Amino acid sequence: MSAPESQVPIPKLAGVCGWPIHHSLSPVLHNYWLKAAGISGAYIPFAVRPDKAVEAFQSLKHTSIAGVNVTLPLKRQAFLAADEHTPDALKLGVSNCLYKRGGKLIGHNTDMEGFTAPLLTQIPASELSQSSVFLIGAGGASRAVIGALLSLNVPELKITNRTDSKAESLADSVNLPSLYAVPWENRSAAIASSQIIINASAAGMSGYPDLDVSLNTARPGTLVYDLIYTPRRTKLLRDAEKRGCKTLGGLSMLIEQARPSFGHFFGELPPKDLDPTETLYSALEAGIR
Ligand code: NAP
Repeated sequence: MSAPESQVPIPKLAGVCGWPIHHSLSPVLHNYWLKAAGISGAYIPFAVRPDKAVEAFQSLKHTSIAGVNVTLPLKRQAFLAADEHTPDALKLGVSNCLYKRGGKLIGHNTDMEGFTAPLLTQIPASELSQSSVFLIGAGGASRAVIGALLSLNVPELKITNRTDSKAESLADSVNLPSLYAVPWENRSAAIASSQIIINASAAGMSGYPDLDVSLNTARPGTLVYDLIYTPRRTKLLRDAEKRGCKTLGGLSMLIEQARPSFGHFFGELPPKDLDPTETLYSALEAGIR
């Protein structure tokens, strides 16, 4: 005999909101983990109009949806819609993850955690606290990178950006002597004096020109971390390999920022022993992006 309807557990539901949203890899990743973990649930993309996003997010409290990830251009609206914020969301002023606790909507941000976890597989925290870092780009991703690197106590952080004024205002907003802007025209000199180089600009991404930065002065052993994950190996990473540098691509950050979100939505962290990398690349090759 089947259980009365009130006792039948309904599948757990979560998703990702953006505008547009059709290109997101997150459904592939979370549904891969749901299946692997044997959880009855689904993770689906939601297109959310930016001018109605705050109301849409607040209405989550009246649904059985456990929570959502939030991507461009809605991360600020997600932050504004939340009743309470985690410390990481407060640091950045934007949320990429909303979940419900005790009837309240919690605004969280997993980008710093997602950026840090792959970095620590390459360089121990003790070495990071003695490393000079050169960050390229001054958009939303750079803010998360800066927040993460400050938590890791890097002693020097140089920022450059194609539009100098944006790197300057980002550096000014942090207001620390160890963090300063380098003019775009001086970027090659900054490469030579850095142990870690991070590309958080869109340059090099499929559909964009390659990043106009030469690694000719980079010291072998320098870590080059490119946040871009499509294409799989950017020109920057190929150049870094030729130069004898260590390299890290952006897919691991995408996976690591998704991991804690999954935990908040579905009540357990995804299985650690399964690597979704090839599943994600197959989806990319099949035209998700
Ligand atoms: P965003 O806020 O739109 O910022 C874009 C940045 O790229 C700006 O600093 C912009 O410089 C710079 N830029 C664009 N075209 C350029 C070019 N041709 N040459 C040099 N700089 C250029 O974007 P975002 O959210 O920060 O994302 C930046 C990148 O990080 C994207 O490629 C994204 O895919 C990647 N990302 C990856 C992950 C991950 O999980 N792996 C997470 C977040 C972001 P201007 O100020 O001069 O326009």
